[in-house]
Amino acid sequence: MSFVCTVDVEDWAQSTIDTNLPITGRSGRNMEYLLDLLEVEDVKVTCFILGKFAEKFPECVKRIATEGHEIASHGYGHVDLFRLSPAEFREDVQRSKGQLEALTGVPVKGYRAPCFSLVKDSIWALDVLAEEGFVYDASINPGVMARFGLSDWPPQPVMVNLPSGLKLVELPLTTLQMLGQRFPVAGGGYHRLLPWLFIQYAVKKTLAGGEAFVAYCHPYEFDPDEFSHLTFPLPLKTRLHQGLGRKGFEAKFKKMLQEFKPALAIDLAEQTNWPVYTPVL
Ligand SMILES: [Zn+2]
Repeated sequence: MSFVCTVDVEDWAQSTIDTNLPITGRSGRNMEYLLDLLEVEDVKVTCFILGKFAEKFPECVKRIATEGHEIASHGYGHVDLFRLSPAEFREDVQRSKGQLEALTGVPVKGYRAPCFSLVKDSIWALDVLAEEGFVYDASINPGVMARFGLSDWPPQPVMVNLPSGLKLVELPLTTLQMLGQRFPVAGGGYHRLLPWLFIQYAVKKTLAGGEAFVAYCHPYEFDPDEFSHLTFPLPLKTRLHQGLGRKGFEAKFKKMLQEFKPALAIDLAEQTNWPVYTPVL
């Protein structure tokens, strides 16, 4: 089974503090830095690119495509799905898919929701994605201990049988079964805080069990200095939650790429033998 590495390409403050904030120059520099790192490590990853980022940094998006990484959509404005109506969500993904395809000439087949906000109240989004021509979604967190999640969702990839009759592959965020619960272990804040030996154990155990491991990160996790340059006050709790562990992230990320060579999410999704799952809607 495959190890997949994904990047949610976005600006830290715009995506986590206030979606009305501008995309900063810092996020573009961080993404260029990450692309340099991926070039040195000689790996290709899947990039879920935010529309607002693509608008500000079109050349960076072109570079992502030219260097052989997968171009996928993270929507346009980074608004949680359950705050949008189905019509607003359709507009958001159409805009994002359209701009990425216009910039790169590559069909966009994968989508990831902001903050894994595809939950019970926004599960209708899967139908919209299938109607808009997406092959797979990677927005569901089937674990506990997360802000948003769907804890009764299958923990491994499935072919989702939708009410419309359409189908879509779901590549959920990878979780690890421990003490009778499923804990997220696949990236972001978890990888900032977990020691490398535990991350290595989680990936090895998952792959050895014949399962897929879908890891994720953000460009800002490679930027430990960002919080020294903030232009607005940030409560200590947020500072700790969002900033802790950035310094050690890059070393762990490199070790992960060196030990587990990643495949692209689209290649995993297009394997034809996924079990069919019909969600209760
Ligand atoms: Zn995001």
